[in-house]
Amino acid sequence: MSSAVLSIGSNVGDRLGHLRRCVALLGDAVLAASPVYSTAPWGGVPQDDFLNAVLLVEDQDADAQEWLRRGQCCEAAAQRTRHVRWGPRTLDVDVIDVEQTRQDDPRLTLPHPRAHQRAFVLVPWLDVAPGAVLAGRGMVAELVAALPAAEKRRVRRRDDLTLESR
Ligand code: ATP
Ligand code: CA
Ligand code: CA
Repeated sequence: MSSAVLSIGSNVGDRLGHLRRCVALLGDAVLAASPVYSTAPWGGVPQDDFLNAVLLVEDQDADAQEWLRRGQCCEAAAQRTRHVRWGPRTLDVDVIDVEQTRQDDPRLTLPHPRAHQRAFVLVPWLDVAPGAVLAGRGMVAELVAALPAAEKRRVRRRDDLTLESR
């Protein structure tokens, strides 16, 4: 059995559609989906705002590598192309946590090495898992509380949008 926390984001094309298709592709593995957030882009490349969300997923047949692979399949299905680091993309799926595993492999670093700095990851994660812990960093609730005000202002909850496509 393995459960994981995935961060999904899109800022090109039908942003909500890309997120919804990702949820649909992950299928029964999705235990919970956070509210959708509008988020200012991270990393300094000028580009449109993202829609972001966090998914809690579980599948007894999936290990950490498999969660990365499934995320990359979703990105491929959205015809993701990548020209600039931290640049615009139809869909980005990052593996944030897999049962508090810690590993340094550049192909799959766990937990995600920049998650603790990112309101667009921590805030929706807290929505679906109030007791969550980011391995090596502490309680997600405390990490959110400690975020700089400027980082918190980058995310805005969109109650007019939902990942449920029905
Ligand atoms: P960031 O990682 O800062 O969010 P990014 O999402 O734009 O940046 P990508 O271009 O999507 O970066 O990914 C680059 C590589 O990162 C991927 O090829 C993947 O193998 C690797 N990678 C390492 N750790 C992770 C992880 N936890 N989740 C997803 N990809 C990871
Ligand atoms: Ca990312
Ligand atoms: Ca990524």
